[in-house]
Amino acid sequence: MRRKPIIQALEREGWKLTDILITHHHHDHVGGVAELKQKYGCRVVAPHDKTAKIANVDLRAAHGDVVKVGELLARVLETPGHTLDHISYVFDSDKALFAADTLFSIGCGRVFEGNYPMMWDSLLKLRALPDDFKLYCGHEYTASNVKFALTVEPDNPALTARAEEVAKLRAENKPTIPSLLGEEKRANVFLRADDPAVAAKLRMKGASAADVFAELRERKNKS
Ligand SMILES: [Zn+2]
Repeated sequence: MRRKPIIQALEREGWKLTDILITHHHHDHVGGVAELKQKYGCRVVAPHDKTAKIANVDLRAAHGDVVKVGELLARVLETPGHTLDHISYVFDSDKALFAADTLFSIGCGRVFEGNYPMMWDSLLKLRALPDDFKLYCGHEYTASNVKFALTVEPDNPALTARAEEVAKLRAENKPTIPSLLGEEKRANVFLRADDPAVAAKLRMKGASAADVFAELRERKNKS
């Protein structure tokens, strides 16, 4: 986590930082926490992690917990796979999902600590959320994800539409995030590993969804 852009944004908006919601222990997601906590005296919410890799935590959140952030309520979903401690935050009333490195627009996180069935199960938890929820993910990887997804599904109209939109946004140096979960369900091949049409594209007819997901993720790793 880079603290400078966060401090700049807070100052620009005239906001005071009250809470930091951490999703997992990777350095690019926790790196600035100590300085921000010292500067603002904010509360730090983080997943349970037995190895205590995340420091400066005030509240440990587990599956089903609801965290109050000002007037907002965040429901915690455990979404392991990328890391074992990964959690996502769902703001039901605000129709927003913060999925960090589990689900990206037109992609998903690498499976570092968990295994493929575990990651697929986590993606199913996120796919179960309503179509009109906005997806806020941890990285602007959409253009690279689109490039890969088109190698699997060049004729998916939802994907080609998203590809055009992403190319336009990036050409204007604009973010592709957030996206709509309903669009992701149609265009993101990693959310459709249980779709027989996807299995057929990979010549894996009849294979389990977890195996199709594993093949997709491994192809992306090599791409
Ligand atoms: Zn990560």
